[in-house]
Amino acid sequence: MKIKMILPALTEAKSPFWRPIKYSLFPPLGLATLAAYCSPDDDISLQDEHVEELSLDDAPDLVVIQVYITNAFRAYAIADRYRSRGAYVCLGGLHTSSLPDEAVLHADSIFIGPGEDTFPQFLKDFQNKCPRKIYHNKERDIQTIPPIRRDLIKRARYLVPNSIVVSRGCPHHCDFCYKDAFFEGGRSFYTQRVDAALAEIDRLPGRHLYFLDDHLLGNQRFANALFSGMQGMNRVFQGASTIDAILRGDLIEQAAKTGMRSVFIGFETLSKGNLVQSNKRQNIGKDYELAIQRLHSLGIMINGSFVFGLDEDDPHVFQRTVEWAVKNSLTTCTFHILTPYPGTRLFKDMEAQGRILHRNWDQYDTRQVVYKTTGLSALELKQGYDQAYRSFYSWSNICRASLGHDNLKHMLKHFAYAGGWKKFEPLWNFMIKTQGLNKMLPLLEAILSKVKKKDAGEPLSPFPAIA
Ligand code: SF4
Repeated sequence: MKIKMILPALTEAKSPFWRPIKYSLFPPLGLATLAAYCSPDDDISLQDEHVEELSLDDAPDLVVIQVYITNAFRAYAIADRYRSRGAYVCLGGLHTSSLPDEAVLHADSIFIGPGEDTFPQFLKDFQNKCPRKIYHNKERDIQTIPPIRRDLIKRARYLVPNSIVVSRGCPHHCDFCYKDAFFEGGRSFYTQRVDAALAEIDRLPGRHLYFLDDHLLGNQRFANALFSGMQGMNRVFQGASTIDAILRGDLIEQAAKTGMRSVFIGFETLSKGNLVQSNKRQNIGKDYELAIQRLHSLGIMINGSFVFGLDEDDPHVFQRTVEWAVKNSLTTCTFHILTPYPGTRLFKDMEAQGRILHRNWDQYDTRQVVYKTTGLSALELKQGYDQAYRSFYSWSNICRASLGHDNLKHMLKHFAYAGGWKKFEPLWNFMIKTQGLNKMLPLLEAILSKVKKKDAGEPLSPFPAIA
């Protein structure tokens, strides 16, 4: 059977002239995971429109498309095209799970929730010529999933081909997050077997790993076993955690010992009222600065995530947040305009209050205002958001934040990482166009090398080495 798997792209990412690096970071692991359930005799092609031009004139028997909110309209257009030419089309992913009634108009079958349990059942039904219209996952088990079909991934097109996911979901319930809608009707946080996760890590070449789990430290027992199994593997890795998990016990020390060099943290807001409004309970009353000091003492860089536009925000929130992030030496920041994704409690609340402005999903990209604001105008919100990015990534603030570390190597790593990420877009664009992104991996690994304890307090040298 000929199977085509597609991750459609945002309009912007299709430009033949300019491709932002953020669209070339991670391969489509979800589709490669589902591909593992297909027969070895199937002829599978996996295309990611973020990094390649789609070929849509082929004639597959089965088309599987992953839908997220800003690629939804593009995904539907591709689905309609293949269906009109006789292919059987399946849609799945976050947006399909949030709005099944919308997705089902463009598909022969749709998948609600994670596909690991339902996709194998669909394949059997399809073989037997009795596929269902809707597959709703309730079992939630990844203990026995087969190895991901990484052979289908075009590694050279990604900066981080070694991305990996060893769990699903997260133990928390923030109002603006997709997670609860996606996992509705079953478990919303579960992990792989530790030995299977370690075997998957072992299969990945090179040193660098990026864990795409929502909360790598979310299950303490699992994370402890994973990190102890990774001792001696000589890896460097990046992942995500919450503040409370960083402050609790010594898990973060284990992570650092095993090779964690940067962590993504959802600080979201510096206002307690906003945390309460968002049901971000795990952050309430937590000492952000203590967590930051702990991470910096372990040589772990921080990517902080912040949301603007919550109801307590005023016109000064942008400068206040940037100043705090610079003062605390966050290496990178990801700012978002609050976006009520369909299916979330935030969307339901705003819809009930008549605050949803439109349903043009293309604009639900966290860079545009799609709801009626309070406290500050839509224009103030958009301009403040843009200014926050400009200000945080100005050379002067990159220098100030770098100099806030107490040892030279961490200062240099911070400077190289933040500057490289945001100040060399034309170079990234060139590497993407020439399909040489993975040649940058040794540089990334060097920047993520260990800050040794003995480096602390080293005098500033005019001839420092980064690695
Ligand atoms: S902690 Fe992160 S992943 Fe978990 S529910 Fe909140 S926003 Fe979603």
